[in-house]
Amino acid sequence: MENLLINILFVLLPILFFQIFYINTDSKYKRVSLAAVFSISIIICMNFPITNYEGHYFDFRYVPYVLGALYGGKKVAITLYFVILAYRFYLGGVGFYIAVFDSTILLFILLLVLLPKYQAYSLKTKISSMMVLLALVNIISLFLCHSLFGFILHAPTVLLVSFVIAQAVTIGLSVYFIEYLKAMDTMKKQLYHNEKLKSLSEMAASISHEVRNPLTVTRGFIQLLKSPDIDEEKKNNYLDLSLRELDRAESIITDYLTFAKPHEDVELELINVIDEMNYVANVMQPYALMQSVSITKEFFTSESYILGTKKHFHQCFINLAKNAIEAMPNGGKLVFKIDQENRMTTIELIDTGIGMTTEQIERLGVPFFTNKEKGTGLGTMVAFSIVKAMKGEINVNSKLNEGTTFTISIPECVKNDAT
Ligand code: ADP
Ligand code: MG
Repeated sequence: MENLLINILFVLLPILFFQIFYINTDSKYKRVSLAAVFSISIIICMNFPITNYEGHYFDFRYVPYVLGALYGGKKVAITLYFVILAYRFYLGGVGFYIAVFDSTILLFILLLVLLPKYQAYSLKTKISSMMVLLALVNIISLFLCHSLFGFILHAPTVLLVSFVIAQAVTIGLSVYFIEYLKAMDTMKKQLYHNEKLKSLSEMAASISHEVRNPLTVTRGFIQLLKSPDIDEEKKNNYLDLSLRELDRAESIITDYLTFAKPHEDVELELINVIDEMNYVANVMQPYALMQSVSITKEFFTSESYILGTKKHFHQCFINLAKNAIEAMPNGGKLVFKIDQENRMTTIELIDTGIGMTTEQIERLGVPFFTNKEKGTGLGTMVAFSIVKAMKGEINVNSKLNEGTTFTISIPECVKNDAT
């Protein structure tokens, strides 16, 4: 009884590993690891047979053998075949010849009949065909044993029958578990895929909506420009407004592309954080002036490098700085702070603006979350995905009516590493 449980346990154990090796990895060592795990299971089964009757071992070795073959393929099947024969030979006794017979029949049935079609079977057919297969092979083998060596049927009938049934049930259960795990995995992948598609299509719908507005406005101005009796001042005004609207349309598309394009394809470059933050501060200066915001720089390091793309780096901090300035409609102070610690570069954007509630902070980075009348709700999302691509982290600290601090920590890169 004890050994029966050990057999069942060691037959079921590979299924756990199955999940790790077969489902969760795409590695090329998949087959090797499957073969190894099922071989171990076979050897343990044979080492702790349920009973040993006059040199004939009763154990569940064929369960991992068949499972390994079905889910690992030809090479795994052949490997397991030789593992069984080698170990059975090592154990000794007449049972070896029976094992040669059984496993060879199984190998042929598996390779020639089952493997080509197995994956197309329904779950019911998979389970029942495997149960019937193992039961038949066991029965034939027992009769063969009897007629060749004339001893095996001395064993109590109860033992023989329950051995055949228990093994069939075990393989049925195993197939069911494995198929269940596979189905769960497929479902998970589909769900993930659908989510991504959904958010992309939502995004596309909103982008086209967002882009249409500035285009309509621009179209209106151009129409106005066509009229002959328009004075110079008005004309310039219309042109400025049209340009501004076109810029807005362009920035929406840029934001969208940064999000939609996988960052892995982009070639990384060494970014001098000080230089690039100086650049961002300069770019933001006119916008800050317009809102009576003063920009201050507090750089506590003279040299700091990270890996990323300059274009994205600029976009990330311009988006965040823009939000900070927009959070101070009555003017205020925006501090750019750079520091380094434990091979991390920390960049802080500290504003004295309207701040955010805890709920607002939680929703930051969610596409289309905006509290502004003309907001797109894409700025922080893009900034978050850029920071993630640079293997960094964002922390937000905010107090309503006092201000907000965005802290971005990015792993440093020693200049020689990249060159
Ligand atoms: P948008 O700027 O178009 O609204 P964002 O994704 O850039 O979209 O920002 C989303 C929202 O997060 C903003 O509408 C604003 O309410 C809030 N927010 C972002 N940064 C700050 C900040 N520094 N201070 C206060 N609120 C902010
Ligand atoms: Mg914004």
